[in-house]
Amino acid sequence: MKDHKIKDGDIIVVFDMEWNQPIGGVEYDFDVSSLCGEIIEIGAVRYVYKDGKIRAAGVFSCDIRPKMYRKLHYHVKKVTHKSNSDLLKGIPFEEAYEKFRKFCGPECIIAGWGNSDPDMLRTNLKFFGMDDKLGMDFLDIQQVFAVFALQKGEQKSVEFAVDHYNIAKVDDFHGATADAKYTGEILRQIFRRNDPSEVIRAMEYTLIDPDIKSEFSSVGSEAGTVAEAFSLLDNFASVCPVCGRAFETRTGLFGIRKSRYGMFTCSEHGDFYCRIRVKKNRTGKFYAAGLLRIATTTDLFLVQSKLEEYTKYGEAGRPAPSVSEPAENSDCDGAS
Ligand SMILES: [Zn+2]
Repeated sequence: MKDHKIKDGDIIVVFDMEWNQPIGGVEYDFDVSSLCGEIIEIGAVRYVYKDGKIRAAGVFSCDIRPKMYRKLHYHVKKVTHKSNSDLLKGIPFEEAYEKFRKFCGPECIIAGWGNSDPDMLRTNLKFFGMDDKLGMDFLDIQQVFAVFALQKGEQKSVEFAVDHYNIAKVDDFHGATADAKYTGEILRQIFRRNDPSEVIRAMEYTLIDPDIKSEFSSVGSEAGTVAEAFSLLDNFASVCPVCGRAFETRTGLFGIRKSRYGMFTCSEHGDFYCRIRVKKNRTGKFYAAGLLRIATTTDLFLVQSKLEEYTKYGEAGRPAPSVSEPAENSDCDGAS
């Protein structure tokens, strides 16, 4: 959403959710892949943005009684410290979502840490036959934190950011309301410690429309050589995967070793990050795997640093360092 401008009076609802998972080996009478997690808790803090600051204006907290996964997965139990009897205290998801929407109000930006919460919310809405369009922009605060506090391309946990800003740890992590409070406090600290106009610029760049699919992938056919494998995915980054408009090129695709990177722009949907990697399958043949997604600030930095590397060292890339350096792992798939 490159046209969204953040202005005084805007509402930012920082939210977090906990969800239960299907238990391996248990037979369910529906396709579990259509509900990879069932929401059991929503927590949120409502902020008002004004004069380069955000101010908290209300807390939302709601436990949800699951219908499909009524027994806690051991991992969820361990992380959230909830018990099976706790789950019975919740209200139905439909009611909880209605309350949450009321808390958000008619217009707001929803925000969270990483992009898994809006995806999971939409999965649950769809599964339970509700309107799965959120109709609001989503801000990934993890991306904004990365811009101001981390090395290019890094991603860190909420707890890391809490420590980074010396935020007092009053509640346990991994409760939805506590995590929403921590995440909101991180955003407040980002404003306090940086030029607010720069923070706003980074936020505007990071905003996405959670109702449109933002990540697309493609796998090319088998090939005998790396060059042939690339050529089989030649058209992957030519049009916007959302609307089909021809891309305007920002960087073009450039190759370092067995990867190609690039940034492309759609006049409607903004910047896209593209990465194509050539891999070998079990039979020893090459194939290319392409990823195209609406660019995050992390992606933008990653392409910048890869381009610097390419400009300096060409296709061979930076010579292998004597001490191990996480060069190839730094471009995360964002699937955390
Ligand atoms: Zn487009």
